[in-house]
Amino acid sequence: MTKTIKVKRLPVDPGPAAWNSILTPASEYPRLNGDINADWVVVGGGFTGIAAARRLSQLVGTESIVLLEAKRLADGPAGRNSGFMIDLPHDLSSETYAGAHENDLRQIKLNREAIRFAGEMATEYGMPKAVFNPCGKVTAAGSSRGEQHIASYQKHLSSLGESFRLMDHSEMKEWTGCDFYRNGLFTPGAVMIQPAAFIRKAAEGLSAKISIYENSPVTRMELGAVHKLVTPGAIVRAKGVILAVNGHIQSFGFFPKRLLHVFTYASMTRALTPGETQRLGGASNWGILPADPMGTTVRRSSDFMGSGDRIVIRNHATLNQSIEATAQNMKRAARLQDRSFENRFPMLKGVEMEYRWGGRLCLSLNSVPAFGEVESRVWAAACQNGLGTVKGTLSGMMAAEQAVLGSSTLLTQFLDHQQPGKLPPEPFLTVGANMTMRWKEWQAGIEM
Ligand SMILES: Cc1cc2nc3c(=O)[nH]c(=O)nc-3n(C[C@H](O)[C@H](O)[C@H](O)COP(=O)(O)OP(=O)(O)OC[C@H]3O[C@@H](n4cnc5c(N)ncnc54)[C@H](O)[C@@H]3O)c2cc1C
Repeated sequence: MTKTIKVKRLPVDPGPAAWNSILTPASEYPRLNGDINADWVVVGGGFTGIAAARRLSQLVGTESIVLLEAKRLADGPAGRNSGFMIDLPHDLSSETYAGAHENDLRQIKLNREAIRFAGEMATEYGMPKAVFNPCGKVTAAGSSRGEQHIASYQKHLSSLGESFRLMDHSEMKEWTGCDFYRNGLFTPGAVMIQPAAFIRKAAEGLSAKISIYENSPVTRMELGAVHKLVTPGAIVRAKGVILAVNGHIQSFGFFPKRLLHVFTYASMTRALTPGETQRLGGASNWGILPADPMGTTVRRSSDFMGSGDRIVIRNHATLNQSIEATAQNMKRAARLQDRSFENRFPMLKGVEMEYRWGGRLCLSLNSVPAFGEVESRVWAAACQNGLGTVKGTLSGMMAAEQAVLGSSTLLTQFLDHQQPGKLPPEPFLTVGANMTMRWKEWQAGIEM
């Protein structure tokens, strides 16, 4: 008996993946053009797919592994995110990122396993500090409301036994060059990555052991004793499949009415001139998460792999259950980001944004992954709740362990979560969620 799954939608990404665009163009992996057989297929080449492929390669010895990516590697959300690999609780739907105590302790442990796994890749595949930098992260406040968030985050970290250091206004100014931040909270366990370079380097390293195909979207699956994955160019037959497509797991028909498709947006300046860099002052590499989860993330780096000294601004979120953002969404995000940039960097008046883009997140109402064996020998590793560099890495590792080992100590801890909660019906969901996010953005005030 075979079951056919027709893939309803393929990914559409608004604007360029700037982190990928600023790198020297990568040589292409082939498009799948002739039918092949493999033991394992990983669908999706983001953080989840890369981690799944690597963990599989560690577990299955000489068995063959194929990775199919619909587009170019690092052109999707993997090359669009802000590059914070965060070990601590990062619940975007909470007021301060914090969750329940026991769950947070478990999450920290799991996140650190994922970061350790990513760190192994960084070492093994020779990633420089500009790509993988274990320098910690700073969460900062630009308003008294933000300071309150920092104070309560600090309290929560103390209760978890986590270390941190408070940075005052003058230290923040010395570090960032701008007057904007009242204070900041440094925590040491995070890693800052150049996300596109990380994915490309990891894929390059892995390609010695696995076969990678780009521009090879899976458009149909025929499930049977041997699964058949159909792409526009050819077919792969395999005994095991890991679907590492984040929200597009729903395009394969799984987890219906359980997943929230949120887009968030960013802009990157052109390279600053030496005069502008001097006017700005401060350190040449830094990143800041907003104290209010609805606020603005900022990164500056003079070392984006030789592409100049640039600033990246990320904010704004919209719910798009069609899994596509609109031109209107992009326009509004651009306006908001220009305002955030002006508020923080008045000394850089006139510096234009060279790139503007949006990217997909997938969240569940109860902040849990969409994970598990969804059909015989087909595993889902999806719904990374906005922290895919870490949670994606983790769920990719875990999918490979579940597929090959069946159980492991880490897997038992990872699986200790509920299924994604059921969503309210439309149009209440989309209207309600977008109104709530606009309200929260308004409340975030100057933190935006
Ligand atoms: C602006 C922005 C900032 C962000 N900042 C951060 C941050 O600082 N830290 C953090 O941890 N996260 C951040 N995120 C979220 C993070 O990017 C995602 O959570 C992460 O990319 C999810 O990883 P993934 O591998 O599960 O999915 P994706 O990165 O979405 O990868 C899935 C891949 O599957 C492919 N695919 C889909 N359908 C098919 C198909 N039918 N056939 C073949 N391939 C298919 C897609 O093309 C895609 O490449 C940010 C996101 C955005 C947009």
